[in-house]
Amino acid sequence: MSIEKFSVEKVLLVHRWTNTLFSFTMTRPAHFKFTAGQFARIGLMVDGELVVRAYSVVSSPFDETLEFFSIVVPEGAFTSNLQHLKVGDELYLEKISYGYLTLARYQQPLPKDLWLLATGTGLAPFLSMLQDFETWNKYQHINLVYSVRTASELAYVERIQEIAATFGEGHSGFQFVPIITRDPNAKLHDRLPILIANGELEKAVGLTFDPATSHVMLCGNPQMVDDTKEALKQRGLTMNRRGEGNIAVENYW
Ligand SMILES: Cc1cc2nc3c(=O)[nH]c(=O)nc-3n(C[C@H](O)[C@H](O)[C@H](O)COP(=O)(O)OP(=O)(O)OC[C@H]3O[C@@H](n4cnc5c(N)ncnc54)[C@H](O)[C@@H]3O)c2cc1C
Repeated sequence: MSIEKFSVEKVLLVHRWTNTLFSFTMTRPAHFKFTAGQFARIGLMVDGELVVRAYSVVSSPFDETLEFFSIVVPEGAFTSNLQHLKVGDELYLEKISYGYLTLARYQQPLPKDLWLLATGTGLAPFLSMLQDFETWNKYQHINLVYSVRTASELAYVERIQEIAATFGEGHSGFQFVPIITRDPNAKLHDRLPILIANGELEKAVGLTFDPATSHVMLCGNPQMVDDTKEALKQRGLTMNRRGEGNIAVENYW
């Protein structure tokens, strides 16, 4: 990996949500441009070697700094080291951004409803999209569905409310729908594909998945992405290709 492709950035903030989830904010160089929903490639020096991983940007494209939301994989080459990150540390940032999980991939005119379905840290690109006024202008209904295992893993809940109040001011069609898969007392606690197949998610939101009116974005765990994709296809929705179709996905591993 050529080091010239990277700039060196400073860590400005670290927030730990749980032992295995944290967020960090770093300086943003002027040359680093991205569209809401895209990812950066972040590098860390481990024993003299640059280890690089993809990270969806949480921040809005208009922010002066870059925020990210990370898992800790105990044996992971990257995150077992990244978990010790402190303010003032240096990280490498590849100079260009990547990814197609953006609203630009959909052809105009857009339908009414946007469904953003995330597991775990797959929430990140959707936070960026929700901090872009364009997202709010484009859709009548925006449903952010966030699936985690335990309530303690529901990071960013207050921020989501703040973002909706700030960016979605005057927009009455936003719903935040948490799913807690290991809490049988949670209002929604089954896996996303099951909640789609049995109609419980639509019931909770009060809207239906419809090829004519829905765009659906999926991000996170590849098993969830695959199974949810299949459940949506059963409902007549199609993969988005060359602008047409409902479903867009990003797998994290
Ligand atoms: C396009 C893209 C965007 C990504 N954005 C993010 C992001 O915003 N935040 C983030 O934490 N990760 C993100 N990832 C995953 C990230 O690149 C690394 O896989 C993660 O940081 C773990 O790195 P590692 O070297 O410690 O473990 P790896 O060797 O990369 O992964 C080991 C195993 O850990 C598990 N795993 C990896 N990532 C996750 C995760 N996010 N949540 C739960 N289990 C996981 C999988 O089972 C994987 O096989 C993204 C991946 C892609 C492809």
